[in-house]
Amino acid sequence: MAEATDRRSISKRELGRGERVIPGVFRLRLPLPWPGVPHCNAWAVAAADGVVLFDTGMHQPGSLAHLERALAMCSLRLEDVTLVVCTHAHSDHCGQAASIVERAGCELWMHPNHEHMTRMAEDPDAVLARRIEVARQSGVPEEPLRRYARESRSRESGIAGVIEPDRDLVPGVAIGTDLGAWTVHETPGHAPSHVCLFQPERRLLISGDHLLGRISLYFDYGSSPDPVGEFLHSLVVVEALNARVCLPGHGRTFTDVRAHIEGNRTLVRERLDRVLDVVRGEPLTAFEIVPHVYGDTLSPANAHWLLSKILCYLTHLQALGRVRRISGEPERWSA
Ligand SMILES: [Zn+2]
Ligand SMILES: [Zn+2]
Repeated sequence: MAEATDRRSISKRELGRGERVIPGVFRLRLPLPWPGVPHCNAWAVAAADGVVLFDTGMHQPGSLAHLERALAMCSLRLEDVTLVVCTHAHSDHCGQAASIVERAGCELWMHPNHEHMTRMAEDPDAVLARRIEVARQSGVPEEPLRRYARESRSRESGIAGVIEPDRDLVPGVAIGTDLGAWTVHETPGHAPSHVCLFQPERRLLISGDHLLGRISLYFDYGSSPDPVGEFLHSLVVVEALNARVCLPGHGRTFTDVRAHIEGNRTLVRERLDRVLDVVRGEPLTAFEIVPHVYGDTLSPANAHWLLSKILCYLTHLQALGRVRRISGEPERWSA
């Protein structure tokens, strides 16, 4: 998940929780302020005299205490973290990196294509202005646009601070742990900075948001040429690893990895077919396509999220030569 779909703080009842899932691997379940996405996972993996922390949870008032509580349930402390590794540069996966690195005195490793987050954290007004321009271009009427701008301005970025990774997380880099070394696999699509980490002897996969137990798709629009195409290719990359157990960015671990990969492919295919069907009649704006694909669910809270996905499907169909972009104000799409 990338975006706050609503603005509320972490509920008082939600607490960070930690549990050992297999020897040397701890799931840290951290609360999120997003309806429908109540938690994210960070994974602590034993390594020599501490743990490697894969992902961090989002930066929010009190969020570091949730992480510390989850670690304490596994008899761990923040100071035990010897390295922070982020699967991708979304706030729920890297938001607390700056705070953790400072407290633990360790390094941060992340993929170099993280400008999509850095821009957001450094100049949120510019990113918001660009989003509003894209939304206007996509046919969103003025009133909801103004409301969206108002609500977004008061929303926190979820990032404690921008820090440059100490090391680029790219293929060839090995992450040493007590369970053996983990390899790095680039899996863009959900986000341009996305990687999956794989432990070949045990066939464990830390999948971030590329594969989730409950199949749910999201693509960052505007940071790369064809996010849906990249995502489909990333599924091939991960399938070739033949993982046995998946440790996802949200929800429980799961074992039927291949079925989940196939499930993602099917859902992408269904969405693409639906979008294509919808623009077969008269040319439509991306905004007009949303209710045909997602029902009457577009609101200021989820507008950016749903529009981003529709634009990514359209961009992919355009790359395949199946739809055509008709320039104008707003721009329309036709089969
Ligand atoms: Zn996420
Ligand atoms: Zn994400």
